[in-house]
Amino acid sequence: MCTQARKEHQEKFLYEEGIVVVATTAFGLGIDKPDVRFVAHLDPPKSMENYYQETGRAGRDGKTANAWMAYGPGDVVQLWRLIERSEAQPRFKHIAFAKLDALLALCEATTCRRVRLLDYFGETMIAVACGNCDICHHPPGVWDGTIAAQKALSCVYRTGQRFDPEYLIDVLRSNHSESVSKWGMTKSALLVSAKSLMKEHGMQFFGN
Ligand SMILES: [Zn+2]
Repeated sequence: MCTQARKEHQEKFLYEEGIVVVATTAFGLGIDKPDVRFVAHLDPPKSMENYYQETGRAGRDGKTANAWMAYGPGDVVQLWRLIERSEAQPRFKHIAFAKLDALLALCEATTCRRVRLLDYFGETMIAVACGNCDICHHPPGVWDGTIAAQKALSCVYRTGQRFDPEYLIDVLRSNHSESVSKWGMTKSALLVSAKSLMKEHGMQFFGN
């Protein structure tokens, strides 16, 4: 975008009502507009610091504002690869991976997101559940996946660490597919013990 067009868009955003801007995160840096009512991320930022700064553009007038983010495993893999393939020093990459992990933990949180954010920035003393985020409103169902995870890993190991997730899921769910029979897994004790667990919770460990 040329400088003039960018300037025009910024001014429109600043001074007109009801404007929605779809742009990269570079847009709006340095713009202090107090009455931004929502910030939506269509892919995840690189770190908690970025997330905090970007969502912090909303509600500077003290009135209600919303932060919304969509993300998927593919986005995380892409960010991970960006770091991995960069020419940065190993120490920098290590820090960047840690920051990405922290952001992923926020995305996958099962407890108040505000508490997560404040914890990350060391504000533990004031970190109490906000009663206002999506998790406070609709706490996700959780279950202890320890045994199921052990069985999933056991299945990977006992089948020789050479099969794709689809096959492993068939084995764990006792789906007597042709390939399961072919590789002789139909009589495994593992099948009997894992079947109910996997049917109940789904095979989330392999991303399915
Ligand atoms: Zn909350």
